[in-house]
Amino acid sequence: MAQRIIEIEDPITVGALADKLLLPVSKLIGELMKNGVMATVNERIDFDTAQIIVGELNLDIDLAKKSTSVSNENSIRRKTNASGDSRPPVVAVMGHVDHGKTSLLDAIRGEDTAKSEAGGITQHISAYQISHNDRAITFLDTPGHEAFAAIREHGALLTDAVVVVVAADDGVKPQTVEAIRFARKAGVKIIVAINKIDKDGANIPQLKQQLAEQDLLVEEWGGDTIVVEVSAKTGQGLSELLDMILLVADVEDLKADVNVPATGLVIEAHFEQGRGPVAIGLIDEGMIKKGDYVVAGSTYAKIRSLESTNRDLITQASPSMPVLITGFKELPQFGDEFYVVKDEKTARNKAQVMFQQKKHDGSRRDIGGSELIRIINRTNKVNEFPVIIKADVQGSLTSVIDSIKTLDSDEATVRIVSSGVGSVSESDAHIASSTGAVIYGFNISLPQNIKRLASRDKTSIRLYDVIYELIDDVKVELSKLLPPEIIETDLGRLIVKGIFKTTKTEIICGGEVSTGKLIVPAMASVYRGKDKLGEVQVVGLRRGPQETKEVFEGEMCGLNLATSSRIELQENDEIQLFARESVSRHL
Ligand code: GDP
Repeated sequence: MAQRIIEIEDPITVGALADKLLLPVSKLIGELMKNGVMATVNERIDFDTAQIIVGELNLDIDLAKKSTSVSNENSIRRKTNASGDSRPPVVAVMGHVDHGKTSLLDAIRGEDTAKSEAGGITQHISAYQISHNDRAITFLDTPGHEAFAAIREHGALLTDAVVVVVAADDGVKPQTVEAIRFARKAGVKIIVAINKIDKDGANIPQLKQQLAEQDLLVEEWGGDTIVVEVSAKTGQGLSELLDMILLVADVEDLKADVNVPATGLVIEAHFEQGRGPVAIGLIDEGMIKKGDYVVAGSTYAKIRSLESTNRDLITQASPSMPVLITGFKELPQFGDEFYVVKDEKTARNKAQVMFQQKKHDGSRRDIGGSELIRIINRTNKVNEFPVIIKADVQGSLTSVIDSIKTLDSDEATVRIVSSGVGSVSESDAHIASSTGAVIYGFNISLPQNIKRLASRDKTSIRLYDVIYELIDDVKVELSKLLPPEIIETDLGRLIVKGIFKTTKTEIICGGEVSTGKLIVPAMASVYRGKDKLGEVQVVGLRRGPQETKEVFEGEMCGLNLATSSRIELQENDEIQLFARESVSRHL
């Protein structure tokens, strides 16, 4: 059968695509979700994603890109094999919780931070660049897969490789599989870091087998998956891991043009006292310089200062570099694309246009980081307790996080949405309000502006200076998520001697109390011999013609039962009354 060709815009909102495909929008959203894209009706997806989804839906339809009058002049695309100069690789580290992502990043950064410690890193930074064999590598310290997804969804495929961290003593776990899926979907190279090889329980052959089950076949088994065995604890294998990342970069031949107006993506934004809005931008192409005019979302800056993520002042930043930018009029948003323009007037106009567009367009806008987090959050299981942890120093932060992680159980878990050293920032407060997370602060105080923001957004910020008191608080919150314990206590039993009425919802019968006592109201199970026929509610009790509240062993009585499904009661069936209470549990 000939395929139909449908022209669509790129990007296109989910709703518009559903209309074009003549599909219910829920079906499209469902299919997107299956493919790891969380998008609501008004959010836009790019052409490639639309095409994949249409393929998955087995529709006899070919999509074609409509040439739009509004050309997306500033949209960011990952430049692979483009002309230009070589650029450093941008790497995200992902994997199952506790498999050592943070430790690995810290260990990799270790050598480098040692050098720059004098600069005093006070704020957790979501990206940084290190140097290995005199070559730069940019790591995205993604607080969770949400951030990675947000960056990806933005059409800005800024990540070149994903290091999937798997603990040698734990093996492939659900989030490992999820990380692999993310990387594949983004079309980026996967490098597997088998971590914790120093541990006794490490079982590397078994892990390689599990990786093979995910279609990641190691070289020694004839595949081409790069696997590096490391220990974040001892530092073993780290240098080799960095070598491999650079090798991947060489193979991919990563390039970017530096002679074009700079563009990039805001990957973090926060307020700093005395400095105002600080954005961390990841440069995609071009060189960004101090004094440049740059537009990000609906705000703009004359760049007052540029700093490397080690907080060294710099005068310009090149592709793949994460850079702290100050001078913005307002706080740009995580996920905003930024681009340099020629003068202040253009910057102001572009920002203004964007502002108006946002206002008018309302929901018809590109998906932003916080929205994405919110969407993902909605799909989370109810037994997760989202938190943001802030502490005075790295040591206490690690202790708080480690202690909190020990509270996780199959029934309720703490989800650390983000964490960091330093006071609670505006961006923490924003994330908390969009994810519903509680912010825990350890040994820190709260700036006035954050207090105001928290009270406006009804965000709960809880400050502690005794670790076990903080942990106890988390325990109480987790306990609230535990399903209550159901306790059933037998009351008494009745042997049915006569049935007076049976409908789908009601039974009236009489009989003799064989054990215990009957009371009303109560729950009851109906038995024939050993078989349980169903559960009913005792709604009325009679001794002779009189309504009564209780009847005792040996007495005859009448029962009025409410049932949700028809039970054909017979003589000599037994009705066991019981009380059912739900009792809240504690950890
Ligand atoms: P994340 O949740 O993936 O970021 O994991 P973390 O980096 O927080 O590590 C979880 C736990 O594993 C911490 O207690 C670390 O000290 C420990 N850990 C991480 N890497 C290693 C390693 O290579 N060897 C050992 N023995 N422990 C490690």
